[in-house]
Amino acid sequence: MTQRGLLIVLSGPSGVGKGTVRKAIFEEEGVDFQYSISATTRQPRPGEVDGVDYFFISEEEFKNKINNGDMLEYAQYVNNYYGTPKSFIDQTLDSGRDVFLEIEVQGALQVKSKMPEGIYIFLTPPNLTNLRERLVGRGTDSQEVINKRVDAAREELKMMINYDYAVENDEVSKAVERIKAIITAERLRVGRV
Ligand code: 5GP
Repeated sequence: MTQRGLLIVLSGPSGVGKGTVRKAIFEEEGVDFQYSISATTRQPRPGEVDGVDYFFISEEEFKNKINNGDMLEYAQYVNNYYGTPKSFIDQTLDSGRDVFLEIEVQGALQVKSKMPEGIYIFLTPPNLTNLRERLVGRGTDSQEVINKRVDAAREELKMMINYDYAVENDEVSKAVERIKAIITAERLRVGRV
């Protein structure tokens, strides 16, 4: 019997660089896991291709998919819907191939509740721990703004406890290496070389 593939979920706070890191991973040679192409109601950006970057669909189509149970998860983000088509994930995992999702945090939590066996990776902004020192040192923000930023960062950090791994995105190439190392280790853990 084929061993089921691993579900790998990359998530993290808005603006941390998830998309950039994910693109860099899939530009590497010999990537042997499958990217899960999301559906979205947002307009394509220049250069984006339907069925490659996203499935660009109407809001009506998106809502139909939700109602038909075709979405593993979905979220509204900046006035648009984003979601993960379910059947593709199931088929790919059943065929023994690993699947990689790059989604925002609300969606990642939904996936985790349905598929706790997945590997959940949280991408963090660099040096979150000494954020206050850096903001104070920079001298451009008022005390009030600094407090707000630190509070926001703390809220983001709280979400980290839902994840198996935290990867700092100090440099894209380093984040890519760390994520690849996690995937290799997780494969070895389940006896897949
Ligand atoms: P963008 O519009 O910049 O391509 O993506 C906006 C946000 O939506 C990013 O944080 C990205 O990770 C997230 N995203 C992309 N696809 C999905 C998805 O299928 N589900 C969820 N929940 N978020 C997604």
